[in-house]
Amino acid sequence: MNSAQYDSSIQIQSHAPGYWPNVTPEKWNDHKWQLRNRINSLVELEKHIELSREERSGILLSGNKLAMSITPHFMNLVDRTDPNCPIRRQIIPRVEETLDDPMELTDPCGEDSHMPVPGLVHRYPDRVLFLVTDRCASYCRYCTRSRVVSGVGEQQLETQYEAAFEYLERTPSVRDVLLSGGDPLLFTDAKLDRILTRLRQIPHIQFVRIGSRIPIFLPQRITPELCNMLKKHHPLFISVHTNHPKELTSEVQEGLIRLAEAGIPMGNQSVLLKGVNDDVETQRALVHKLLMCRVKPYYLYQCDLIKGSSHLRTSVQKGLDIIEGLRGHTTGYAIPQYVIDGPGGGGKIPLNPNYIVEHTDNHVTLRNYENKKFTYPEPQPLEVFQ
Ligand SMILES: *Cc1c(COP(=O)(O)O)cnc(C)c1O
Repeated sequence: MNSAQYDSSIQIQSHAPGYWPNVTPEKWNDHKWQLRNRINSLVELEKHIELSREERSGILLSGNKLAMSITPHFMNLVDRTDPNCPIRRQIIPRVEETLDDPMELTDPCGEDSHMPVPGLVHRYPDRVLFLVTDRCASYCRYCTRSRVVSGVGEQQLETQYEAAFEYLERTPSVRDVLLSGGDPLLFTDAKLDRILTRLRQIPHIQFVRIGSRIPIFLPQRITPELCNMLKKHHPLFISVHTNHPKELTSEVQEGLIRLAEAGIPMGNQSVLLKGVNDDVETQRALVHKLLMCRVKPYYLYQCDLIKGSSHLRTSVQKGLDIIEGLRGHTTGYAIPQYVIDGPGGGGKIPLNPNYIVEHTDNHVTLRNYENKKFTYPEPQPLEVFQ
């Protein structure tokens, strides 16, 4: 697809006529209806779309690894006939998930070995990742936490809330808590309010954020009541997760703007996925639409070495080429930081195209986004008195 076509698709569009033509708007807009009517089985899915052999086998074989679950809202973005649809690849299992690659890991970011309390990952000096639930509205096939998420695998997430709060209370070095899972916005407003209130009672916790794909999978959950509750706990940020421009519908945009109007700054985390968003044009359309939804592109992740992810992983060069294709060519605010989460547990490591051509004691020679060269002299010792 050429970039002109993408430019015209930058209009935020509402849903195409969907797979649920007879449902009332009241039901459709009710997040509980959406959750009750998720597609969880092959039989349900085949009522709506024609599956490829790879998908049918994938659904049959992946059931005890990571559950399939698709909200009606997200399902409506799925192309009925195209098995290569970028939405389909994210949420419908494929047979390639059963392929064994010896480089792949059950716990690709080494989280389990960095938990002082079950459910609390303390890897960096001043911040923690608090896994508050193992459930999501829908399940991404490349989930970095598929070992514990969705409740069908062998390993279970056994978060000890009280022990986690006590650990945070007695660990003053922690000033930043990231609530994730699973998806914390699946909790009721009251339950989330209790967790946030408890965290806010700890004086050294300055900053709280929530990682959630609910604004994308289930925008109906972003109610005015939820926003009113969240804004009591500022400074509160939200990291959303969007991979393809098609995901940013007008319903999603409305929810995101509601969060922005509650004073919540938002960042987006994308995963670089083969056949989904591994080209500059798709990424450019995505980051432009995110800004129109008041979301700053935050990280672009190289896909973790999750078991059964080989069909979704791309080369690192692809990621570097995407950043190179964005930086300088478009708004600086639109450019995410490309990172690899160090396999086995190194944390997020930034990767950048190399703009330094030569660096000596006297000068640095740089290239810009157009490959033109520029020299910046290094400061030399000043000799005022000879
Ligand atoms: C990603 C992550 C964080 C947050 O990292 P930031 O770079 O501050 O966004 C914290 N803890 C863990 C274990 C993480 O994986």
